[in-house]
Parts: sequence; C-alpha cells; structure tokens
Amino acid sequence: MWFPFENIRNFILSVRIGKTGRDIIRTMITLHDLFIGNFPVSQNFGENYETYKWIKDYLGNPILGHNGVDFGYNGQSPILLNPFPKTSEVVCSFTGWDKDGYGWWLRLWDKTQSCVILYAHAQEINIKAGETIRFQQQVAIGDSTGWSTGPHLHCGFYIVDAQGNKLNRDNGYDGYLNVMNKKNVTWNLLNPTKPSDATPIVDCDPQWRIDRDKNWDLYLAEKEKVTLLQASEAKLSSALEQERASVALAKQECQTLKQRVLDFANNL
Ligand SMILES: [Zn+2]
Repeated sequence: MWFPFENIRNFILSVRIGKTGRDIIRTMITLHDLFIGNFPVSQNFGENYETYKWIKDYLGNPILGHNGVDFGYNGQSPILLNPFPKTSEVVCSFTGWDKDGYGWWLRLWDKTQSCVILYAHAQEINIKAGETIRFQQQVAIGDSTGWSTGPHLHCGFYIVDAQGNKLNRDNGYDGYLNVMNKKNVTWNLLNPTKPSDATPIVDCDPQWRIDRDKNWDLYLAEKEKVTLLQASEAKLSSALEQERASVALAKQECQTLKQRVLDFANNL
C-alpha cells in the first residue's frame, strides 16, 4: 500500500500555518525590476524543507522551507536595482557580510508601502545603511558569495510596521513572504526582456566553493589592510600638514626678527 509520508508532513505543516499565521497580506505591494536582465527562478519559496529546517523562526521552530525566491544568474553578474515605485520613500536599512549565510547582503525599506526587500549573495554593495535610495538606483552587483551553490539572487520579502519591524512572524517562515505570489505583489517590469532559456546553475563542484571562500578570505584580509593603510596615510598627511604650518610660522617669525634687527641698526 502506498503510504503518503510527504502528504502527512505537508498536512501537519499546513495545519501549523493555518493555526498560527497567514501568507496573504492585506495590502498589494507594487514592485519593478529587481535587476538588469531576465533570470529564471532557480528555487521557489517554501521548497526544500530538509535543507532549511536548521533555520529557526522567532519561536525556535524550524522554518517550513526556503524563505525567499532565488533567481539563477546563468554565470552572469547582473546589476541589482531598487525595485520599489517612484512614489515610495526608500532607505537602505542594512548592508553587511555574512560568510556562512547571505554573503554580501542588503535590505531596502520602502517606508511608503511598509515592506522590506532583502538581496543576498552579492559581489559588491554600492549603497550604505541610512542612505535614501532613488527609483531603480543600482544598489549592488550580483554574485555567489556566502552559503551559495552558484551565482544567484536570494530575494527575501516581508511586511513591516511603521517602525520597520517585521510582521507576520508566525507564518512558518518567520515573516518572510513569497515575492512571486501574485496575491501579494503586482509586478510592473520596466525592462521586460526575453526570458533566458538557459538552465539556471543551481549546483556546482564543492571544491569551487572552498576555493572561492579562500579567495574571499584573502580578499577581505587585503581590503582590511588597505583600509588600515589608508587610515595611517590620512594621519601622516595631516601630521605633514601641521609641520608645514609650523615651518611657515617659524619662517614668518624669523622674518619679523630680521626686520627688527634691521630697524634697530638703522636707528643707531
Ligand atoms: Zn535562496
């Protein structure tokens, strides 16, 4: 007899969602392009429970699956954009580095629509926390940093209150919502291009990750050195500036003294 283990698990999970949370939000959010180009979804929201069950929600319960939507870059490194509408007031609420998770990642907070978009696994971030972000402004360049098996954008999405606190935290995904759910989001794409028909890269040689991480460590160490050097260079140049000023002052005093000696000699 066929025994539906998978169905039983889904049933239990759905009861949990039904009891404690909701995935459909009251307000409809409008979003524009996330990136320049057109990249296919390589992992849907809610997939792969086994892979993500180690991630816990605020109550300590394992999340019910992938808590974002992944778009596979097919080997490219696209420019990532602010996707919120022209009418929205948008600020960058976080940027950071997380070697074993999101890699280089950032959060954009749309204060007008009361929601947040999270981009992960970037190569570089072009904005700073606290900065106001323009419509469709470039915010980062995509890559495969952090816990990632290939170049892709992990896009997280959630609704917030007026202070920016995440809502719906009991929905089984700690508040994260499916950005591809048409009941939550209206997509208004500005640069619709032909969808890429290449298969997204979702897995790769594990050695590649190890090599990449090594290089990232080296890169970060070098970056740290450069920052320190720049700081000491700045200190040195300000010290040099001070020395120059005191030399100029001494020269002037010397000049004054010389003049006084000359005046004295003339009056003899
Ligand atoms: Zn993801």
